[in-house]
Amino acid sequence: MAGMVIVGAGECGGRAALALRDLGYGGPVTLIGDEPHLPYERPPLSKEAMTGESPAIKAIASDELLAERSIRHIHSVRAVAIDRAAHAVRLSDGSSLPYEKLLLATGSAPRKLPMPGLGGRCVYLRTFSDALAIRAHLSAGNRVAIIGGGFIGLELAASSRKLGASVTVIEAQPRILMRGVPAEIAEIIHKAHEAEGVKVLAGQGIASIADNGAEVRIALADGQEIAADVAVIGIGAVPVTALAAEAGLTIDNGIAVDGTLRTEDPDIFAAGDCCSFPLAVYGGRRVRLEAWRNAQEQGALAAKNMLGADEAHAAVPWFWSDQYGLTLQIAGLSDEGRSTVRRDLDDGAFILFHLAEDGRLVAASGIGPGNAVARDIRLAEMLIAKRAAPAPEALGSQTVKLKSLLAA
Ligand code: FAD
Ligand code: NAP
Repeated sequence: MAGMVIVGAGECGGRAALALRDLGYGGPVTLIGDEPHLPYERPPLSKEAMTGESPAIKAIASDELLAERSIRHIHSVRAVAIDRAAHAVRLSDGSSLPYEKLLLATGSAPRKLPMPGLGGRCVYLRTFSDALAIRAHLSAGNRVAIIGGGFIGLELAASSRKLGASVTVIEAQPRILMRGVPAEIAEIIHKAHEAEGVKVLAGQGIASIADNGAEVRIALADGQEIAADVAVIGIGAVPVTALAAEAGLTIDNGIAVDGTLRTEDPDIFAAGDCCSFPLAVYGGRRVRLEAWRNAQEQGALAAKNMLGADEAHAAVPWFWSDQYGLTLQIAGLSDEGRSTVRRDLDDGAFILFHLAEDGRLVAASGIGPGNAVARDIRLAEMLIAKRAAPAPEALGSQTVKLKSLLAA
């Protein structure tokens, strides 16, 4: 019996394998991963795994759980080709694996900085092995240069400060978190970094990089020079699509799937960071999400549909970022909004509600200490899913409970 094969043993692939068993599937389930580890969580890599005493993998499934669920995990092996006619995946160890249904959960990979001069002290962060390599440079007094003021860069800046390293963040755009995070919230994060002693250089092009093995020297377009013990490059991620492309599947900012996460081949699905899909809540706008909860939700949905269901993805996008004591949470896609309403919460926390032209709530972005925005962002998410158009005055008023708007 050929069974279910999943390529990519990350967040999405790991969750999909477990979901297949939760849904009662009794045939073979094989999870193929090119990393040497158990499926593991990536969010801690820029946070707790950097600052904890002894960094360890936070596994999604232990060896015991995989054995108990009869999930075969083939690690340290790449899927190198898909033979769609034969329904088989060829692996880098020379073997071949038949499939009944195939899930591609190949994730995304760091965008490479296309510059000469990069050496061993210029690194990217995606895997546990990358995290260990970076952590070795984060002792007190060491100098860290971070290229890219996005989530990797800023979370790593916060972790580096916690360990006593000095940090410079270089961002090409006029401000940090330019894409997807409103300026009002990015400013709070910028100030938090400056208050912690991080030097944030926004709107700065890089003229050259020289890594001589002992240190990295980064020359900026305006003539400044930054010397560092390590340069971490966090300039975005690109979907891992080569396997799908070589198998003739359509690539459109990721492996293109329909709302049920099927590619044009009815026996091949794709989910998580690697796929683009129509997002029902925004009228079928095709998007690709790079977020932890999306990878989980799509892994579970793909498993369902591999077993014959025909359920469309209907979730509202959501993600968070922790930096120092602050947590940012965003539900929905803020670029769908045309106007914004602010609601202040306790302890300096606030939420920006993003409204479409027709008054519909399309996104909510919140920031505050600890869990301050969590409950209201959750309620906003439910309003977005309901396609509600609450009165702006009610959204902005601290005395109107969001829960009452849901019931309305
Ligand atoms: P991945 O987790 O990347 O897994 C894909 C796996 O497939 C990888 O192991 C890859 O090596 C493997 N693979 C690829 N091709 C092949 C092949 N041909 N054969 C075999 N294996 C293959 N999101 C949030 O919402 N909040 C956060 O705070 C947050 N923090 C993050 C911090 C870091 C440092 C990183 C890197 C990401 C963070 N994310 C966060 C994003 C989140 O982790 C990802 O969206 C999520 O991991 C995507 O899951 P995935 O399974 O689609 O891809
Ligand atoms: P990112 O959030 O897209 O940020 C990259 C930033 O670097 C962008 O602001 C980008 O600007 C900028 N940049 C691009 N080229 C540059 C250059 N040459 N010099 C300086 N800056 C440059 O991506 P990331 O931070 O690298 O994160 C990678 C992946 O990890 C993503 O999938 C992300 O979702 C995930 N991650 C998520 C979280 C979270 O959700 N909390 C945390 C860590 C990691 P442009 O917009 O102009 O390209």
